[in-house]
Amino acid sequence: MNILPPGSTIGILGGGQLGRMTALAAARLGYRSHIFCPEMDAPALQVAAGHTRGDFLDHAALKKFAEAVDVVTLEWENVPLETLEVLSRRKPVHPNAPVLRIAQDRVLEKSFARQQGLGTPDFMPVLSVKELAEAMENFARPAILKTSRLGYDGKGQLTITSDMDAATAWRAMGSEAGIIETFIDFDREISVIVARRADGVMATYPVAENIHINHVLAETRVPARISPAVEHEAKQIAQTLAAALDVVGLLCVEMFVLKTPNAAGQSVLMNEIAPRPHNSGHWTIDACACSQFEQLVRAVCGLPLGPTTPHSRAVMQNILGDDVQRWPEYLADPTVCLHLYGKTEIRPGRKMAHMTRLGDKWSEA
Ligand code: AMP
Repeated sequence: MNILPPGSTIGILGGGQLGRMTALAAARLGYRSHIFCPEMDAPALQVAAGHTRGDFLDHAALKKFAEAVDVVTLEWENVPLETLEVLSRRKPVHPNAPVLRIAQDRVLEKSFARQQGLGTPDFMPVLSVKELAEAMENFARPAILKTSRLGYDGKGQLTITSDMDAATAWRAMGSEAGIIETFIDFDREISVIVARRADGVMATYPVAENIHINHVLAETRVPARISPAVEHEAKQIAQTLAAALDVVGLLCVEMFVLKTPNAAGQSVLMNEIAPRPHNSGHWTIDACACSQFEQLVRAVCGLPLGPTTPHSRAVMQNILGDDVQRWPEYLADPTVCLHLYGKTEIRPGRKMAHMTRLGDKWSEA
């Protein structure tokens, strides 16, 4: 396995807060980060050594970027596959295009999980209003209709109630290729983050419990309030997917815990995967010796992976929109570890910062 020593340059596709926190972790290990993004004032640029500005399909800019870096990773999973293909002809790209192809498409990711024998909500792809009308006859209401691509934080998502007709639902979704899913009356939502190196070695964080408000992550708490058996099942799902996808870097798997096991004996259903640092892993910065961001750097550089057992329990809360103005109050609270993303423009619902509160020692959890 290739080891990229400290002093090398990590190229990061995307300039948001995930890139920023990756660059900070990389700097701690003596690496430089070089960001590729179209913006001039993205959060990651404030902490990175270099920037190539360009559109993701600008081949000339991509070539320049490839020359400036030793390895490429990403903080945004909707990077066009063409971008990854252009770059991978020049430098190692982790995660690679085949992983992203699956992670970018809700139908492909759920089909892939099923092929591995894992449980997902029942689903059907819908490519036209006619297919949606047919699918709606087979699904109990409420059901959920999602666009198959480019959906995140509940964007491109619609709950189909009993009085809704297919034409209205199809129009509301922008008449795009989609996926219809059974609505899961879950006990709770959880996620697991796995780091994986090119030689297959993995490191898995404890299961995190996630609370979403308006489909956006509001709070993550660790440990999750689940049984050891469910903890084990969830980690197995994440590791199975990371190995089957041959991910190099990070894989976050978001899952639903069922109130009672299904007919197949499964208590945990896979909902979505993200082959990058994830909002539900931000707690690792303050509660672990090695954060998800450092773990990503270690994985793509072929270094030993770090420990994943936290030293403390943790609760992470996102700070959205105007709430970021309350920073003096958060800073004055000695129980808060505050992370501001350096975003200049405040918009309602925009992720501006997060805070983590540490609790009792992990060994007493
Ligand atoms: P997603 O974009 O698929 O991660 O969905 C965002 C959020 O919508 C999830 O975290 C859940 O809270 C909710 N959600 C998505 N799919 C379902 C489902 N099939 N059943 C119930 N809730 C869902």
